[in-house]
Amino acid sequence: MRIAVAGLQHESNTFLPGTTPLAAFERPGGWPPLSRGPEMLSVLRGTAVPAAGALAVADTRPDVAIVPIQWGLAQPSAPIARDAFDGLADAIVEGIATAHAAARLDGLYLDLHGAMVVDGIDDGEGELLHRLRVRLGTDLPVAVSADLHANLSPGFVDRVTVLDGYRAYPHDDMAETGARTFRRLLRHLDRGAARPATVMVRPGFVVALTWQCTLTDPAKGLKERAESMMAADPDLAVFQAYGFPLADIPDCGPAIVVQHPDATRASAVADTLLAAWQAAEPDFDGPIPTATEAVRQAMVLAGTPGTGPVVIADTQDNPGGGGPGDTPGMLAALLDQGADGAVLVHIADRAAAEAAHAAGVGGTVDLGLGGKQLPEYGVPVPGPWRVEALGDGRFTGMGPMYRGNRISLGPVALLAQAGGRVIVAGPKMQASEPGLLHHLGLDPAAVPILVVKSSVHFRGAYQAMAKAVLVGRAPGPVTADLRDLTYRRLQPGVRIAGTAR
Ligand SMILES: [Zn+2]
Repeated sequence: MRIAVAGLQHESNTFLPGTTPLAAFERPGGWPPLSRGPEMLSVLRGTAVPAAGALAVADTRPDVAIVPIQWGLAQPSAPIARDAFDGLADAIVEGIATAHAAARLDGLYLDLHGAMVVDGIDDGEGELLHRLRVRLGTDLPVAVSADLHANLSPGFVDRVTVLDGYRAYPHDDMAETGARTFRRLLRHLDRGAARPATVMVRPGFVVALTWQCTLTDPAKGLKERAESMMAADPDLAVFQAYGFPLADIPDCGPAIVVQHPDATRASAVADTLLAAWQAAEPDFDGPIPTATEAVRQAMVLAGTPGTGPVVIADTQDNPGGGGPGDTPGMLAALLDQGADGAVLVHIADRAAAEAAHAAGVGGTVDLGLGGKQLPEYGVPVPGPWRVEALGDGRFTGMGPMYRGNRISLGPVALLAQAGGRVIVAGPKMQASEPGLLHHLGLDPAAVPILVVKSSVHFRGAYQAMAKAVLVGRAPGPVTADLRDLTYRRLQPGVRIAGTAR
């Protein structure tokens, strides 16, 4: 069997200004770079991305020949520039069409996100699938793995033969999801079966990132419920997408997609899960302390008996939600309250990292940190800073999200002044990779207070070692309380979880 493999992943925050250019796909912090054709295989194999899981399954099947087309991912950010999307999408569509013309393809596996918005196009994945179907027809089986944060549209789902997605947030199951999706595609092709009946239902509310974590209820219970239904019925596939709430588009929000050969069974499962989601709605909401309150609580907790860091999530600057990775509120709160020994991971500032390397360990750099990319969220925190450690930013991912990724951040540094320490690096990157701390000689388990620019993914790396976990709200664009946003384009009747009907 000849199966083409391609990938295009972007989570687009429509509340951010500007657009995301092609260059953002070329060196995404912590993730494999844009690659095409046979080089895709060496770039992706052994990494944590879904396509790597699919390739590993293909390697076990001597009768499967992979046709690598193109794979690219950019960090979450503003919608993709139209010319960048057209170039990336055309390379996938034309690459597949050329391969199909040379020798008939039996199927296609796509590693997509599901919350991609393009300048002028609300539904990036739907547009990609539309272009594919126009060019290749409706017969070619297409399997898609998507992110748990996908904002699914009917126009997208209807064009996919086999749809699956991450079940865990933190996403420690990306490669596993790619492998599962690819196995489902192979089973579909082996059986020569019709497309399974596909039912999509929507709970009718949007959920902030903090409350989507599947390590805690209500998401934990909903995940386990679907998993137990699937364990009892091998033909059943359930994808519970939570949606990416920082996208003011009509298809924003959770959706449950059920696939089963029997349409009646698919509908019944969808209805059961929909009722469970609706019953859980009030628990998808809660209070979040300010940065000052979170640091105060952390300092108290750090002084109590027990081991491990008190971890504070700087959730409103989560690079994985489109945060710039340089809002200054949490760093200022640490220094204001004298949180000596605390470490903030990390401020994205290439010039600061380069200045630290020029000064050397033990030297001093006198510059402001943070607040340079989106000045509306606070002013830079002034120096001088003492250079405590330096690194070249090259290491292999060891946390559950980046494990195996060959990470290359350029110069990185650990800076300190009275009241706190901060890591600086060029690119932004979700703070869920302990390898960066070890690279700078820090043992995260021994840090008293660890501030991470992350909403939920940090839990995969740090929750087990943490003495306590707090989520704090410093000014930033990854809005933790969706009531702070003005949505204009949600479908009629869709509300923020926990608000009155
Ligand atoms: Zn996600």
